[in-house]
Amino acid sequence: MNEQFLLQMQQILKDEYPAYLESLSNPPTRGFRINPLKTNEKDFFEKVDVSHTKSPYAKYGYYTDDKKYGSMPEYASGAFYMQEASASSAVTVMDPKGGAVILDMCAAPGSKTTEILELLENQGLLVSNEIDKKRSHILLENVERNGASNCIVVSNDPLQLAKQFPGFFDMVLCDAPCSGEGMMRKNTEAVDQWTPQLVEHCASVQKEVLESVYTCLKADGILLYSTCTLNLKENEYQIKQFLERHPDMQMMDTNVNFGRRALCEEHDIQKAIRIYPMDHGEGHFIAKMKKCSVTAPCSIKQLKSDLIPKEILSLLKDTIEEVYPYLYFKNNRLYGGTYPFIDTGKLHLLRNQVYIGEMLKGRFEFSHHFFMSSYSKFKNTYEMSDEEVKRYMHGEQISANVQKGWVAMCYHGFVVGGAKSDGHALKNKYPKAFRTR
Ligand code: SAM
Repeated sequence: MNEQFLLQMQQILKDEYPAYLESLSNPPTRGFRINPLKTNEKDFFEKVDVSHTKSPYAKYGYYTDDKKYGSMPEYASGAFYMQEASASSAVTVMDPKGGAVILDMCAAPGSKTTEILELLENQGLLVSNEIDKKRSHILLENVERNGASNCIVVSNDPLQLAKQFPGFFDMVLCDAPCSGEGMMRKNTEAVDQWTPQLVEHCASVQKEVLESVYTCLKADGILLYSTCTLNLKENEYQIKQFLERHPDMQMMDTNVNFGRRALCEEHDIQKAIRIYPMDHGEGHFIAKMKKCSVTAPCSIKQLKSDLIPKEILSLLKDTIEEVYPYLYFKNNRLYGGTYPFIDTGKLHLLRNQVYIGEMLKGRFEFSHHFFMSSYSKFKNTYEMSDEEVKRYMHGEQISANVQKGWVAMCYHGFVVGGAKSDGHALKNKYPKAFRTR
């Protein structure tokens, strides 16, 4: 490991340095969160046989020793999400509440976005942004699987978000790109890539992103800054400079019983917290701040829907118990959501709430996202056996006498995807990209 990095850790940790060094030789911790939009702890552990111990870092977070998760149907259904335990701490500190309008500025792959959505319980709105186009598609997949009905996914430079949404958000999460010093056990790339120049580069990107984040916050808005690095320049000193540039921003208490005090007394920065690899996690820094000035709120236009054809509406009513409070129909595509459909202007929009489906050559085709959505119960469901779910996820047709029409394909009661029944066979609608080989 880089000597300069270790020297810096020695200076930061002092007496605790030997414990840190020892922790580096242990394997990284593994964790997951149960998705309360789709299940609860009792239901989940009755159905899914996985090793688990509760994590202190998140309401629905657990540690596990199991490695089999990725290919499980319950994973495909969005009933749980894999996330290193200490990484879930930032959203716990943020404490998003139903009804809040939130921005996640650096969101891919979506661990914190999905955690926020779980706590919002399909109320309020989350705009989830990822600058990197390739990573934004992974974010979208994770948002779809999560099933929330109140998320907009965009892929833009933070400057463009600041232009579109000045003073709009109650809360902004800035989980900034960083030098990854808290990921040294988990990710050998972080060890190889670390240089003092990388730290300087990350600090300058973080400074710029923070400026856009500040613009997006409304009066009394809350900013949550987090990194998975342990470097003072990217954490305490970054926040110190930010608070000096913006005297209307004030540090807030984290009100959690984990983490250690941050390493700076000025401007109350010691209210921020640090988590180290010897704290049953990997490594994180979390600072919570409030904007105390008056910012003129921006007004955002609502989108005007085309007239929704009657046959689509009645198909929707026949398929789910309760239709979304808001529907938006444009270019033959139907979207549903629990927040009014807002105009995202010139932003590169990947998804506006739930993509229900599309009118194609005289028939309406439901999307996979619709089957993943947690808002409404499906009227026509089919519970697959162990053998059938394997065949379904492989893309095969399932023979079964099921009422004609669209069917939600379930395993252990969790919807894994959709199918169309002709009465005797279920035509597979599981996306080709997700099929097992
Ligand atoms: N919040 C994510 C999660 O919990 O899954 C992890 C985010 S990761 C630490 C930081 C993200 O910032 C990366 O996805 C990266 O592509 C993005 N990023 C890199 N440069 C950026 C920039 N200049 N502005 C905004 N985001 C940037």
